[in-house]
Amino acid sequence: MIPVVDGHNDALLRIWRNGGSLLERDGGHLDVPPMREGGIVAGFFAMFVPAWDDEPADPRASVVRTADGYVVPQEERLPVARAVRIAAELFAIAERELHIVRTVDELERCIAGDAVGAILHLEGAEPIDRKLANLDEWVERGLRSLGIVWSRHNAFGHGVPFRYPGTPDTGPGLTDAGRALVRACNELGVLVDLAHATERTFFDTAELSSAPLVVSHAGVHALCPVPRSLTDAQLDAIGSSGGLVGIVFDTAMTRADGELAPDTPLETIAAHVEHVAGRIGVDHVALGSDFDGCSPPASLSDASKMQALLDVLDWSDADLAKLAHENWLRVLRATWLPPSPATPARA
Ligand SMILES: [Zn+2]
Repeated sequence: MIPVVDGHNDALLRIWRNGGSLLERDGGHLDVPPMREGGIVAGFFAMFVPAWDDEPADPRASVVRTADGYVVPQEERLPVARAVRIAAELFAIAERELHIVRTVDELERCIAGDAVGAILHLEGAEPIDRKLANLDEWVERGLRSLGIVWSRHNAFGHGVPFRYPGTPDTGPGLTDAGRALVRACNELGVLVDLAHATERTFFDTAELSSAPLVVSHAGVHALCPVPRSLTDAQLDAIGSSGGLVGIVFDTAMTRADGELAPDTPLETIAAHVEHVAGRIGVDHVALGSDFDGCSPPASLSDASKMQALLDVLDWSDADLAKLAHENWLRVLRATWLPPSPATPARA
C-alpha cells in the first residue's frame, strides 16, 4: 500500500452533528479503521462552521441561497463568537480522538506507519476575529491550515457558489482584513487553502502570499465546468508557486455533466489527476477526497477504498508516492515553521 496524506475531509462535522466516534467504523466515509485499511496515514480534518445549529446533515443542502446562488453573508447569520464556539467543539473532538499533527516530522512519522494523524484545518475563517486577535491562539493550539472562505462571503474574502455550469469568476476577492490574514498566515506558518475561493480571491492571494499556493480539494475546469473547479490559468499559478492541488472525489465536481452519480467510474476522478500532472507536472497534484463532505463514486465510497484510485493510474511507484504524500511533505516543509526550541520555563 502507498501511504496517502489526504487533503480534506469533513469527518469532524459528521461526529459533531451525529455523535459517535472516529475510532470505530461509524457509518460515514472516513473513520480511523477505514483510514488504516485504505492506507490513509494522515488527513486534513476540516473544522467547518455551519450557519445554523439545526441544519440538515448535508452541508450543501443546508445553506440558504440568495437568488444569485450565494449563501447569506456570515455577518448576518454567523457572528464570530458563535463560529468560535462551534469550531472549538470540532477542535475538541479532534483532540479527544485523533493524533494531531503539528510538524513535518510528525507527519513523516505517520507516513512511516507510527500513527494515523490529523492536520487541523479551518474551512472558512469565520471563527477568526476580523482584527486577527485570536489567530495566534488557534495556531498555538494546533491549527496548521486555513481556508479563507467557504462558498460564502465573509469578512476576509469571497467564495464561489455551487452551480452548473459556471466559472470561478463569480465576484470580488480579498478584503483588507483578508490581505492581513494572508500575511499573518505566512508569518505564523499556517497553510492558506484556496478551495472554494473566487478567481479574484485566488489571484489576490497569489499576488500577496510568500507560500506555495494550495487548493486542498477541487477539480479542473477543463473537465468539469463548475465555479469550484480550477481554470488552467489558476493551475499554472499553482505550478509556478511550487504548490499543489488535491483532487476532490465528488462526482458533481468531476463529471463533465456535473451530475451526482454513484456509478461514476474511477477513471473520471483519475482524469483530473492526469490533467493537473500533464499541465503543471506530477509534483503539483495530490488527493483531497472531501470524504464526509461530498458524494464520491460507489467504487470510492469510503476511506478504505483509497488505494483503488491509485490502482487505476498507470504511473510509476515514484510518481504515485509524490501524488500520495511526497508533494504534501514538500509544500508543508516550505509553509509550516520549523518547531521552535522548547520554551524556557517562566520565572
Ligand atoms: Zn469544502
